[in-house]
Amino acid sequence: MNPQCARCGKVVYPTEKVNCLDKYWHKGCFHCEVCKMALNMNNYKGYEKKPYCNYYPKRLISSV
Ligand SMILES: [Zn+2]
Ligand SMILES: [Zn+2]
Repeated sequence: MNPQCARCGKVVYPTEKVNCLDKYWHKGCFHCEVCKMALNMNNYKGYEKKPYCNYYPKRLISSV
């Protein structure tokens, strides 16, 4: 069984799989929630189980 993408809900095959935040993503679906910048395992920031670029989680957290 291949897992489903947390973003688009389609099957994620091993060649395009990103395993982050306890979920699986297509490489192309793993982008910042806010600005849609492409992310990878090394530069994403997880916040409430969603990926963000470096910039946004700080703003989200500080605005609460
Ligand atoms: Zn996807
Ligand atoms: Zn961003």
